[in-house]
Amino acid sequence: MSILRWGIDIDSNELVSIEKALRGKDCNCICPACGSQLIAHKASIAHHFKHFNTTECSGGAETAIHLKAKEIISSSLKLKLPALKASAYLDDYKAFIKILDSKFISFDDVCLEKKEGKIIPDLIAIHKGKKLLIEIAVTHFIDGKKKKIIREQGVSCIEINLENFHKSEINFTDDDFEYAVISCIENKKWIYNAKYNKAKIKAAEKASYLRNKIIKEEKEKIIREKRLFIESFEDMLKAGFKIKINPHNICSGFEKGSNYVEFSINLDLYGIKDEVKSQDHLILIYISVCRDDNSMFFLDVETKSSSISYPLLESYIEKNLYMLSSEEGLYRWLCHNVDLE
Ligand SMILES: [Zn+2]
Repeated sequence: MSILRWGIDIDSNELVSIEKALRGKDCNCICPACGSQLIAHKASIAHHFKHFNTTECSGGAETAIHLKAKEIISSSLKLKLPALKASAYLDDYKAFIKILDSKFISFDDVCLEKKEGKIIPDLIAIHKGKKLLIEIAVTHFIDGKKKKIIREQGVSCIEINLENFHKSEINFTDDDFEYAVISCIENKKWIYNAKYNKAKIKAAEKASYLRNKIIKEEKEKIIREKRLFIESFEDMLKAGFKIKINPHNICSGFEKGSNYVEFSINLDLYGIKDEVKSQDHLILIYISVCRDDNSMFFLDVETKSSSISYPLLESYIEKNLYMLSSEEGLYRWLCHNVDLE
């Protein structure tokens, strides 16, 4: 059973905390839930109120927390609210739009248990003419159904979680409790914020912008790489590069009488720019040729280069070899230009 820490003073009708109450029957208090007379029991681990001549009721502790939290907010007319942002994803791109930073908000007015549309929130606070619904959660939290209604009504709502005080079996001070209600943000959660939907749309637009920007940059990078490769390849052709065929790499070998030739070439990039002339840029080309009409060939290219992308290399070589094959025949071109070791 949870500990009852606040009673209602019989004369003043105000909540009295166990911290401030006089001992025993002198506390002059009744239970906030059932109205029975209470006695204040000051124990070393947890001071608490006990029902005097009735059994402990089940809802006293929770009711007391609810009443005290509402009283604190109503009298202080302020609350520290947690930060809120809207986020949106588009493919792998994520964007945020800040709705508000965590900060203290002052209220012009606070109403208790007043109907707002289809619901009755614990409190309705007014800030610059706008409503903020405040729900105190002790054992019952806002469920999906209520959340849906709140969102449909379009009024901002915050939930304050005070469950730990209900579960606590040790003493805590009035100040600890007030801090949790007013200033702590870790126990507060936005159920809905009136600015959220607009921010969500903006976040989606931002994600779309970021995605398009990155795609554009990637395309431009490919174009730059392609230009760099074409320049290198053109330099290589101009400089009269040397191709070495490694016989161990010949797949089917030359088969006399056959109209099918298949071999692989280790292409060393002689005579090209220094920055691409290294072992890292060794290119391996596998070519299959149909000897009769020289119009058909297959290419497979491997490169260890990190700066030259494989599909670009392949498409460029393919394009150039096709041009050569249609003019003078790829097979003859290879024979004339290749050192057979
Ligand atoms: Zn009671």
